[in-house]
Amino acid sequence: MSTSNRVKLKPGNTIGILGGGQLGRMLAMAAARLGLRCQIFSPDPDSPAFDVVLNATCAEYADVEALETFANDVDVITYEFENVPASAALVLAARRPLLPDRKILETTQDRLAEKNFVTKLGIGTAAYADVSSVSSLREAIAHISLPAVIKTRRFGYDGKGQALVREGDDLSQIWTELGTKSAILEAFVPFEREISVIAARSADGEVECFDVTENEHRDHILKISRAPAAIPDELAQEALGIAARIATALDYVGVLAVEMFVVANGAARPKVLVNEIAPRVHNSGHWTLDGASISQFEQHIRAIAGWPLGRPARHGNAITMTNLIGDEVLGYQEWLAVPGASVHLYGKSPPRPGRKMGHVTQVGHKVGHKLAPPVGTTPSKDG
Ligand code: AMP
Repeated sequence: MSTSNRVKLKPGNTIGILGGGQLGRMLAMAAARLGLRCQIFSPDPDSPAFDVVLNATCAEYADVEALETFANDVDVITYEFENVPASAALVLAARRPLLPDRKILETTQDRLAEKNFVTKLGIGTAAYADVSSVSSLREAIAHISLPAVIKTRRFGYDGKGQALVREGDDLSQIWTELGTKSAILEAFVPFEREISVIAARSADGEVECFDVTENEHRDHILKISRAPAAIPDELAQEALGIAARIATALDYVGVLAVEMFVVANGAARPKVLVNEIAPRVHNSGHWTLDGASISQFEQHIRAIAGWPLGRPARHGNAITMTNLIGDEVLGYQEWLAVPGASVHLYGKSPPRPGRKMGHVTQVGHKVGHKLAPPVGTTPSKDG
């Protein structure tokens, strides 16, 4: 029996979460709704997730003793970020089930391994090449025409650790500024739109996906998500199928996000290319908190608890999620006054530029039930 099949939590059990950001916070809140407790492990004393749990461990991921004590306190362990150090994952997995499995991190922490994995499944990505020096960058450019995007293989997020490479650029300078020995060069994708699929997979292999979401980035940071994406049904089915295949091929337990590009393809149907897999709940799934019967956070908790997944139903016709980034959060009072808006603040300070401080969900209008006039007040035809 695999580790994941052994987990069957009961209300009152405790889930350990690595990482104390807003994702950990929203996971803990979803767990609480299901009668489950959470304990957060984070090295940052200002972790927003600490505010919503009774027990927290504030220690470094290299602190083996703290990891062991944390593992002993909980029934199952999960994570809210993909860069969990392999050594920490090993210590934890030896003591308690760690879900999703730590081997998945080996694939998703490395852009090259991730692209190779997706390509092996026969799923399209941007053309890419391994780059480990200026000379291999030159070679890669010979295969992948410019413009192209160079990305560090590890630890990149929100556009950090990547740069656009154009004709005539100083390659030595780009390579030095990237500050790594392992990178990939990707063809620049002239996408029509960016989409993502949030998929959940249970230990039994059941997969449930939320509607395909369309994402708009500003300065490489997600600004707005819209669900469902304004794409033809055929394309949506293709995107959902890709996410389900990836989840199954990884033998995944929990929620993952697959970010994709939709690219025009002449007179033919547009193509879907996978950009990135996030082995965790994802910003583009935040709309599910207010816009669906079950949120991505609850799905993840259900999956790692060994509980049946929900079959999420969308509440509105068109849902918009707007991130409040940096100073934008200072306008929360105005958002609170917007009819129908659901405001989420993560309790972070200070609002540094580029920092995700909160989000707002607006569920597209549906005609609600009309209040029936009190009996006897309906004017009758005969007066
Ligand atoms: P990533 O860190 O790979 O998710 O990239 C962040 C954002 O940069 C994406 O959401 C895209 O908007 C943009 N981007 C990344 N890779 C490419 C590419 N190969 N072509 C065009 N835009 C890209």
